Amino acid sequence: MRMEQLVALCKRRGFLFQSSEIYGGLNGFWDYGPLGVELKRNVREAWWHNMVTAHNDLAAPAGAPEPYAMTGLDCAVIMHPQVWKCSGHYDLFLDYFVDCRESNRRYRYDQIAGRWVECDAQRVFVTSYQSGDDAAAEIEQKALKFFKLRAKDKDRLRWEPGVTTLDKVGETSRVVGPDAKSLGTLTAPREFNLMFETYTGAVRDESSKTFLRPETAQGIFVNFKNVLDSTRLKVPFGIAQIGKSFRNEITPRNFTFRSREFEQMEIEFFCRPDSSAAWYRYWRDRRFRWYVELGLAGERLRLRDHDPDELSHYSCGTADIEYAFPFLAPGEFGELEGVAHRGDFDLRSHMEGKLVRAGDDFAVETDEHGRPRYRGSGKDLSYYDDETQQRFIPHVIEPSAGADRAALAFLCEAYNEDEQPDEKGVAQKRVFLKLHPRLAPIKAAVFPLVKKDGMPEIAKDIYAALKPRFPAFYDEKGAVGRRYRRQDEAGTPFCVTVDSQTLADGTVTIRDRDTLQQWRVPKDACAEEIRARLG
Ligand code: ATP
Repeated sequence: MRMEQLVALCKRRGFLFQSSEIYGGLNGFWDYGPLGVELKRNVREAWWHNMVTAHNDLAAPAGAPEPYAMTGLDCAVIMHPQVWKCSGHYDLFLDYFVDCRESNRRYRYDQIAGRWVECDAQRVFVTSYQSGDDAAAEIEQKALKFFKLRAKDKDRLRWEPGVTTLDKVGETSRVVGPDAKSLGTLTAPREFNLMFETYTGAVRDESSKTFLRPETAQGIFVNFKNVLDSTRLKVPFGIAQIGKSFRNEITPRNFTFRSREFEQMEIEFFCRPDSSAAWYRYWRDRRFRWYVELGLAGERLRLRDHDPDELSHYSCGTADIEYAFPFLAPGEFGELEGVAHRGDFDLRSHMEGKLVRAGDDFAVETDEHGRPRYRGSGKDLSYYDDETQQRFIPHVIEPSAGADRAALAFLCEAYNEDEQPDEKGVAQKRVFLKLHPRLAPIKAAVFPLVKKDGMPEIAKDIYAALKPRFPAFYDEKGAVGRRYRRQDEAGTPFCVTVDSQTLADGTVTIRDRDTLQQWRVPKDACAEEIRARLG
């Protein structure tokens, strides 16, 4: 499948629209349409149900070191600015960008791909802002142009092995920018904090500056004590939150994959330090299985443990759950979720103030007078374990997923095409979304075969019986084959058709989207039949 096909289907069928499209759109922002809103709700619901609602806290699930509890929170998007100072986001949530003086465009420093090439004793780094194979092809074309060569003279170019990114090169004077014709038009890299700023209250000055949260996690940490004090939860337990996060990404791209407003589904799981490594492994595997169970099986999904040098400064282990999105080059994967062992870094920072590495441990960062650079809350966020009579700061495992990236991966994986004969026996291309029934926006569509003989009335009664149980759709317009195809494209797993046999014996056909099998059931039994197959 090519990405353009999925993007076109999403627009055509109302899964996703560009935000503010009638005004030309706003880069990095997306709106979910009538089908998309249901899909994303189902993704969130599948996550919350699996992680929180259906979780049995009396028995340890397979692979878990012991039973544990799960609960939830829904925190404000705008929080006290000190939260972001202590968490490190204020100082460290940075990307680097470079500007091009020739094209007046701005690029993320680490996303400019390039390759060294030499010709006529001049060695330059030719770049592209594409990824993977597209980048390699563009770089070759640009090098020919730069050295004013024709394609047939391409042997005069002496390439150094491998495409690399500009941040690894570390200089810009011998670089041809991604949209530039001349050499050395890129500026030196500059820092850019990804947090969106705003002001709270009537006065707009430094003291009223606040931020839209770039992650939902911090709301959980700062409420840790509230949750403990208002429930009878005991460590180990997890707090889940689903909500919008905002990052002023320098170059949002690849459809919803990198947006400026997106939704996260995060868990902070609090446990004893001595069992945290076992919990980390449990969550890593458990979260991977969630995607598999909802249909991302196969080699496009992978679990990748970070190399030690990739780990965040506080982390003893991180794994990414990744998907080979079709907009990436073959062999490349994009992150769906990160599962991180965060130690006691977050709770400690909110107690003591912003932490920095000090040998094997952390210490509060200080200013030139030896005072904490950013003061913590001063509140005691430790935990007292009645059983062992020990006080400790819990360690945290954080599975952090993106609802939009998950929805996009489910859509990519679901996109299928085959050929099916139409009413006249002529083979027609069929596009169908093989979404897991739990994720499908519409669970069943009901059709009268023709608009007469009392069929619409029976079909409407069936529709009325299905509708309170799950999203259903009634359609009596056009040839039945076309109605099936419209539902296939929307990912509807089952279609119920009322035909002449229904008038005789009260049965209807149910058709399966993927196998195209049809079977008959009594019309009053079809709601239960479908419900049982939704999973
Ligand atoms: P990336 O490296 O792709 O920018 P990240 O490592 O910064 O992602 P995290 O901070 O770990 O991402 O955020 C957790 C999850 O939130 C990601 O796995 C992803 O699913 C989602 N996410 C993060 N940034 C974006 C974004 N700009 N658009 C959509 N989803 C995002």
